[in-house]
Amino acid sequence: MKTFQITRPKDNPQAIAAAGKSKTAQQGADIRFIAGGTTLIDLMKLNVEQPQNLVDVNRLPLDKVEATPDGGLTIGATVRNSELAWHPLVRKNYTVLSEAVLSGATVQIRNMATTAGNLLQRTRCMYFRSTDMPCNKRDPGSGCAAITGSNRGLAILGTSEHCIATNPSDMNVAMAALEATVHVRGAKGERGIPIGDFHLLPGNTPQRETVLEPGDLITHVTLPPPAPGNRSLYLKLRDRMSYEFALASAAVVITTANGKITRARIAMGGVGTKPWRSTEAEAELADQPATEATFRKAADAALRDAKPQSQNGFKVELAKRCLVHALKLATQPA
Ligand SMILES: Cc1cc2nc3c(=O)[nH]c(=O)nc-3n(C[C@H](O)[C@H](O)[C@H](O)COP(=O)(O)OP(=O)(O)OC[C@H]3O[C@@H](n4cnc5c(N)ncnc54)[C@H](O)[C@@H]3O)c2cc1C
Ligand code: SF4
Repeated sequence: MKTFQITRPKDNPQAIAAAGKSKTAQQGADIRFIAGGTTLIDLMKLNVEQPQNLVDVNRLPLDKVEATPDGGLTIGATVRNSELAWHPLVRKNYTVLSEAVLSGATVQIRNMATTAGNLLQRTRCMYFRSTDMPCNKRDPGSGCAAITGSNRGLAILGTSEHCIATNPSDMNVAMAALEATVHVRGAKGERGIPIGDFHLLPGNTPQRETVLEPGDLITHVTLPPPAPGNRSLYLKLRDRMSYEFALASAAVVITTANGKITRARIAMGGVGTKPWRSTEAEAELADQPATEATFRKAADAALRDAKPQSQNGFKVELAKRCLVHALKLATQPA
């Protein structure tokens, strides 16, 4: 591993990071922010990431979860995943987020991992993590070893001929269903990015994973007020019950009245190259009776464009069943 120096800025860390040479501050830049380090240090040990300088953001005053005047929530960039998941307002108003975060990793990792770091965690594709294998995301133009290789855990939605890597985050899926906004401070000032626009599809440039610009610092995430009367939950299916990423997951935020669905927000994990909001499923659910037949139609719509690879065809039906079961649980009498 290369030597690196940690900087603890008193102010303006994004200006320091903007001095990095590469196209984004987050991927491949010489100067990088570090928060919990559970993604970045891991990848530095594997020589996948090789920054020269790390800018430690942990002492910035970005560690609060607070109610907003409109009844929503603001979550600081350095709020630890554990703190987020157990915060009373999150438990009460955004159950899906609490459950998603608690389904990820381990207690020890959640105690270190931060909100911003989780948004930017990188794929678990084994070829991305092996510097002796071709990988367009790590080394653009080198090829994709996964398409003809081991792809059981990889994506079936949003893939391209250049990359089929899954976005591994559980938190991001809940954030997508909750219609979160990611707030960023950068060279051009501050801006809010809807979560649906934050992560990019791989297309021809799988190395570029988000819309962040050089030097952008994530400061916080906001959630809109909870929809009145909604129930929400996160269901994660995986090979074992802990310390494992999703094969398929569903984040459901749903409101019913008199047996009919009046509002639904649906996102899926483990299947997409980005956290996968399914407006197709939402359209099938709107104003329909809350029955298994409706749920199955929604699941079929969510997976209609799935393109399985040689080893992950099973994910199509698994993801459908995951969504149907999540909807059943979220609409059954309390
Ligand atoms: C063994 C293991 C199992 C795991 N299992 C799961 C799982 O089941 N589900 C799941 O969802 N996750 C899982 N994770 C991933 C874990 O959730 C992430 O590693 C963690 O959320 C990253 O947060 P961090 O603060 O440690 O990020 P860091 O490693 O500090 O940073 C990650 C990236 O974010 C950038 N960054 C950090 N803060 C900022 C900021 N404020 N502004 C801009 N850029 C920033 C860094 O430069 C870096 O590129 C697992 C991780 C491990 C090691
Ligand atoms: S799927 Fe993406 S991350 Fe995995 S080897 Fe192919 S290009 Fe690399």
